[in-house]
Amino acid sequence: MNNKIGLYIHIPFCQEICSYCDFIKTNDHRISSINNYFEALLAEVVSKKKYFPDIDTIYIGGGTPNSVAISYLEKLLIILQDIHPREYTIETNSELYTPEQGDLFVKYGITRVSIGVQTFQKPLINLLNRFHNFSQVEMMMCDLRSKGINNINIDMILAIPTQTMGDLQEDIQKVLSLKPTHISYYSLILEEKTKMMWDIIHGKYQLIDEDLNYEMTKLVINSLQKNAYQHYEISNFALKGFVSQHNLKYWTYQQYLGLGQGACSLIDNQRITNTKVFSKYLKGEPPLVEVQDQMLAIEDEMIFGLRKMKGVNIKIINLKYQCDVLKLYPQLNNFIENHFLVYRNNILRLSKKGYYVANQIFEVFL
Ligand code: SF4
Repeated sequence: MNNKIGLYIHIPFCQEICSYCDFIKTNDHRISSINNYFEALLAEVVSKKKYFPDIDTIYIGGGTPNSVAISYLEKLLIILQDIHPREYTIETNSELYTPEQGDLFVKYGITRVSIGVQTFQKPLINLLNRFHNFSQVEMMMCDLRSKGINNINIDMILAIPTQTMGDLQEDIQKVLSLKPTHISYYSLILEEKTKMMWDIIHGKYQLIDEDLNYEMTKLVINSLQKNAYQHYEISNFALKGFVSQHNLKYWTYQQYLGLGQGACSLIDNQRITNTKVFSKYLKGEPPLVEVQDQMLAIEDEMIFGLRKMKGVNIKIINLKYQCDVLKLYPQLNNFIENHFLVYRNNILRLSKKGYYVANQIFEVFL
């Protein structure tokens, strides 16, 4: 394991709740809730100071970190000043962005901003219960660039119920016109206990069918690749030199420390999971600590590794865990024979057609 650590910090507050979202979030914006959360979070961050010298990426995610007042963010950023990461990201929503936030990001050395967009089509934005528009994203990016923050990710979603190929084409053109350095383009997943699940059960709209989903995915990959975005992970695309260093840590099974409500860590051969319950986090409920189990480690290495277009070095995994992965998971050989996986020079990776059935392949490890 590389001994450099990625630090993730979770800020669960959101202005509104998106219809598809099953992340750990809350739209409770009472001052007392935010005060109490930041008090607990900052105490947790300070308690992990011994790791600071080894941290080389920071990712402040959520929730929507820029939905809270600048004074809260600044308290956190002041503590993190002792860390000198090579990549420092914050997640945002454009409709909540102010130039003062941009100044704060620059002041504390944030190098990368991720903007949740998902779609630029008004009816789809409404369906997702989001509140941005194209010009807000454009103005935000312009302001960030004027301040020297050029590394900007845009999060997008395809296969939104009722979305057409025409809608998707327009979204792709719009996102390309903004020239972000990185684009995450996820296929919508219907999650339990979301408003979208409820709407679908009650026949308000339907999920996109598999064939259209396939065509949409193909369109996204082809369009972004044609425009110089390297497709380096199933749902992630980057211009040269802008691969997400923090997320690479998850996909290459390196150490990370997760702080805040529901955050997970993989560190010192332990998996540590903070409570997902807001009130329990505030009360300081101790996290669940598990010794890293070898089978679980192999599964994670394989699933996350295969998400990368470069694939997994099977020889290294066999040596590291003293095992034979292809014997441990014999079903992999069927996927290789049927050309869904390519196995060459010890590297196992998804083939072009394997990309579209990746979730079925990953089930081998579950
Ligand atoms: S802004 Fe993000 S975290 Fe908040 S509800 Fe929407 S998708 Fe979920």
